[in-house]
Amino acid sequence: METVVLSVTWAIDWMRRTAVLVAAHRSELSELDRKIGDGDHGENLARGFAAVVAKLDAQPQPPALVGDVLRTAATTLMSTVGGASGPLYGTAFLRASRASSRVELDAQGVVVLLEACLEGVRDRGGAQVGDKTMLDAWAPAAEAAARVAAQGASPADVLRAAALAAREGTAQTAQLTAVRGRASFLGEASVGVADPGAASTALVIEAAHDAAVAAGRWAA
Ligand code: ADP
Ligand code: MG
Repeated sequence: METVVLSVTWAIDWMRRTAVLVAAHRSELSELDRKIGDGDHGENLARGFAAVVAKLDAQPQPPALVGDVLRTAATTLMSTVGGASGPLYGTAFLRASRASSRVELDAQGVVVLLEACLEGVRDRGGAQVGDKTMLDAWAPAAEAAARVAAQGASPADVLRAAALAAREGTAQTAQLTAVRGRASFLGEASVGVADPGAASTALVIEAAHDAAVAAGRWAA
């Protein structure tokens, strides 16, 4: 049976699964960044999400709200991830935490969370869709989520649609010329390689979906 709401337990599981997924794809992310940046994106994020899990594990009290989990993630990512992506993910999760100061999220709550991430990245980085950044994964993800939630989909299905859209958005970044961040130094030479930050965003959203599916299994 599929759950109709996602709890704090889901949020913690999301962070754990993100840490595992990012660590598993660490070389792939750094390889993309080696081609169009400085090659540290996989390491940066693997270190950051491992620190998030350690921080959550070390908390004396279980977090009460979904937003509490995301705030811990935000502050930890900001202080442990070097490079451009630390403040970007940090701001995304900080906005998401403010948008989800609730014990549980329904499908619309998931949409609000993803839109908050998108706005955080946009405000912090000043990029637009098509600039070949992680925004090219967050934007289609938030759009797809809103579209399927409006049709009455479950939180897990909303996240499935978001994860697929983020992956497609990432694939499309290969055709784009970078105009932001380190990859912009390459200009046209950045064409042919997908954006590492978009690729990691697709993994983060995939982990959110995996955690939602697992939550449904436990509830069954
Ligand atoms: P750095 O570029 O400092 O080495 P990372 O390698 O960790 O940092 O992250 C690079 C990723 O950050 C890029 O692939 C891109 O997705 C993202 N990024 C960089 N600048 C911006 C920006 N202005 N707006 C949105 N995303 C950005
Ligand atoms: Mg880099």
